[in-house]
Formats: sequence, structure tokens, C-alpha cells
Amino acid sequence: MKFIGTRGGGAVSGAEAVVRGMAESGGLYVPETIPSVTAEELESMLSMSYPERAALVIGKFFDELPQKELLETLEAAYGKFEGDDPAPLVKIEDGLFILELFHGPTCAFKDMALSVLPYLLKKSCEALGVKEKILVLTATSGDTGKAALEAFAGADGVKAAVFYPEEGVSKMQKMQMVTQDGENVDVAGVRGNFDDCQAAVKKIFRSQECRDKLKERGVLLTSANSVNVGRLVPQIAYYFSAYCDLVTSGQIAAGSEVDFAVPTGNFGNILAGYYAKRMGLPVGTLVCASNRNNVLTDFFNKGTYDKKRPFFRTMSPSMDILVSSNLERLLFEISGRDSALTVERMRSLANSGRYSLRAEELKALSQIFFAGYASEEDTVECVYEFFEEFNYPLDTHTGVAMHVARGYCRKRAEDVNAEQRPMVVVSTASPYKCPQAVYYALTGNDVKDSFKGIKRIHLITAMNVPESLKALRYKPARFKTVVAPDKIFEEVLNFVAE
Ligand SMILES: *Cc1c(COP(=O)(O)O)cnc(C)c1O
Repeated sequence: MKFIGTRGGGAVSGAEAVVRGMAESGGLYVPETIPSVTAEELESMLSMSYPERAALVIGKFFDELPQKELLETLEAAYGKFEGDDPAPLVKIEDGLFILELFHGPTCAFKDMALSVLPYLLKKSCEALGVKEKILVLTATSGDTGKAALEAFAGADGVKAAVFYPEEGVSKMQKMQMVTQDGENVDVAGVRGNFDDCQAAVKKIFRSQECRDKLKERGVLLTSANSVNVGRLVPQIAYYFSAYCDLVTSGQIAAGSEVDFAVPTGNFGNILAGYYAKRMGLPVGTLVCASNRNNVLTDFFNKGTYDKKRPFFRTMSPSMDILVSSNLERLLFEISGRDSALTVERMRSLANSGRYSLRAEELKALSQIFFAGYASEEDTVECVYEFFEEFNYPLDTHTGVAMHVARGYCRKRAEDVNAEQRPMVVVSTASPYKCPQAVYYALTGNDVKDSFKGIKRIHLITAMNVPESLKALRYKPARFKTVVAPDKIFEEVLNFVAE
């Protein structure tokens, strides 16, 4: 399978797409053709384990990988998750399910793909005969950073540098990153919000000068952000797996449609759901849930993307984003793969902060996506009421999605013409990952210290506390550097010189 850039340029191999991270033209890579999964294949997946299902899906895109080795790698990677299923589907009530994606080493869904990325990168470097040292450069809204650090720490021939918005992540997220072990990792805060951080990092990726300077030092740049297809592809697998679990548990008949609601920031997770649907998975509606930074809600409802708006810091910090990178891939697909139009729109976004869809594109999107948002009050109320009703503690990101999902389900229930479909809400983080916000939502009280928050949530919910979070308490902070966005590259150069 080859990959092409959303802004044009020739097709490249999967290995090259993974190593480069972003396309030469400045766009993002997408598969040259979207592979399909037949009804027979889907049926064969029913009896498979999660790693087997994932191997089948990932193998469709990276068909040059040895299947047996891929499966063994997935088994080892997901074997490090807590519990025996890395992506369990929990039934809440008839028609409502939660897909828990937070059982990995860093307690957020980013582990689902980042646990696999080192392998994809290693195989790709081998295939291309890359001799340089690899630098994995990552901008994070809180969770990608830690998942990348955890995935690459101690790996041979790789260094990982992570930049996070200094004031824009939860205390727990920050603690997870600055205490990271490993000689081959670097972490620094950036003055500004995630958009500033992501824009500065993307600029380095697009700069030939930066790439050349790194090359002089024997370093090749790659990305662990969701712009990398190596992130996107493993994420498609859990949509298939959740669907299979619904069938095997007798909740749906094979072939009938299911809706998914996804707490969205950079549009990576939900985009994987879109590709799953395009591959033939019977997905009804994809519910795109935003927090108060509701640029995507407006985009899907009005057809105009307009980033010129106030930026809010919320209790779901991993979704505090105004420029959703992966939306470029959806734009490319929905325009009928028109790279010239995609270039024009991305230019317009850079120059004037906005672009608009054509009427037929908006209509096509509205048949696949429903978009809504939750205010801070909505999120608190949803987390509180959900616990009261079902005794299930949602994290605040998932609370955003649950609020929007339930609104959507109510609307559908009122429509006599609409057939009712099961709703799967994708849970992206453990409630212990933003303990202060979750404790506030559950009780209306503040707690100053994250670990006290964890303890109190545990007392209320009796939910197991992940070992990896407990262990943080006694780990010293190793990384204290904070830089301005335009000094990121300097920090990178210092780090590679070490
Ligand atoms: C990254 C993240 C999101 C947003 O996912 P995208 O793929 O960026 O849309 C939502 N919730 C949590 C907990 C996250 O870490």
C-alpha cells in the first residue's frame, strides 16, 4: 500500500510515510486507496483477540510488514496494558456502551497507537536503510507526550523530545512527563497554548533549513503526533474491535449499524472512526464532541472553519485546540481528494484564519457526522449525574463526549422515522488522569493536590487506581526547562548534541 499527501506530491511507501511523519508538500499522508474489510473478514474477526484484530486492520495498510512479527509485536505491546483486554467494551445500559481505551501505561488512549509506533518506525527505518539517529519530535496537549516518552524511552537509535504548553496541561499530565526516566528523552514546557506549541513544531517539520541542520548532526526528524499515519492506522483497529464485541455479546446482529461518540481535539481519534466506516465497518453516525473550544461544532454545523475566536483553558485540557490538524485529511477526502483545493483551504486558514466548505460537501459530512459541544457546567453535570445514575466515574474528556452523545440519542429517540442504534462512547482517559477536575465534578469540592484527589476519587468510586499514576508520587522532576515557541528548535539542537 502506498500513501499520498493531502497537498499533492507523489506516492510514497508506508515506510517513508511513517519515517517522514509529514508529507514533503506540507500536507499529511493518507492511504492511496482506502482498503476494505469484507463481511467475511469481519466475521472472522469475531473470534479473534484484540492483537489479532489489530494485526488484520494494520496489515491492510502496512502490507509489507511480516504478519507474524506484527502480531507478536502487538501481543507484546498490548500485553503491557492493565487487564487482559486493552480495549474493553463496557455495557452501561441497553443501547449505551463505553469503549475504555485508557488501560495502557499512561492511562490515555494515545497508548493504543504509540505502543505500536516504535515498531513501525523501526521496521520503516530498516526498509529504507536509514543510517541516521531518529529524533521523534512531539507537541502535546498533555497525553501524547507521555505516551511517546513511555514508548520510546530507552529505545536504541532514537531520541524523543516532547514540548507541552506550560500552563495548558493538568498537573498530573505534567508530572507524568517531567518525571520520565530514560537518557534518550527530553521534555520542555512552552510559553503559550497547545496551538502555539503545535504550530511551532510543525514549522520545524516544514523547514528544510531545520531538517538540514539536523542532518549535519546525523539526525533524522520524525513525528509521534497524530499527523503521522503510524498513529492513525492502529487507532482504526479499536473501532473494529468494539463492533466485534457488540456482535459476540449478542447486543447487535452482524451488519447492523452502530454510532460512536468521540471526545475530539486534534481530530485524530474520530478520523480513525471515519476510515473504519470507509473500510466497510457498519458505522452509523460519528458524534464529534468538543468542549468550550467548539470550533469543530461550528465547522460541522455551518460549513465554515474559523479559528479566530477566544481560546479557553478547560477541565478537558487535551481537547483545548483551535487548529485540528487531522481535519485536513477529512477535507481532502470529502473534496473528492482534491489536493489543489486542500492547499487553497490550508492557505486560507493560515492567512485569514478561516475557510468554507461547498454546500454539497457540508451535506455529505452531515450524513456521517453529528457535532456538538459541552460547556464546563455541562461537563461537570454529566460526570456527576452519570456517576449517580450508573456508578461509573467518567473522566472529564469522556464526560464531554457523554454529554453530546446523550443529547444526540435523545434527539434520535424523538424522531419517529429514525431507527434506534446502539451508541458507543469512546473513553479516552482514566478518571485518575485529571483527578482534581474529576473530584470537583463528582463532589463540587476542590482538592489542591493531585494525589489527594486520586485517594478521594478512589474512596468514592472504589475504582482501581492505575499503578503507573500511584508510582509518580515519589518520583523527582527531571525536566524544568520552559522555552518560548520560537526557541523550540534551539532546545532541540541542544538536546541532539548531548
Ligand atoms: C488526545 C486526547 C483527546 C483528543 O483526541 P484527538 O485525537 O486529538 O481528537 C481526547 N481526550 C484525551 C484524554 C486525549 O488525550
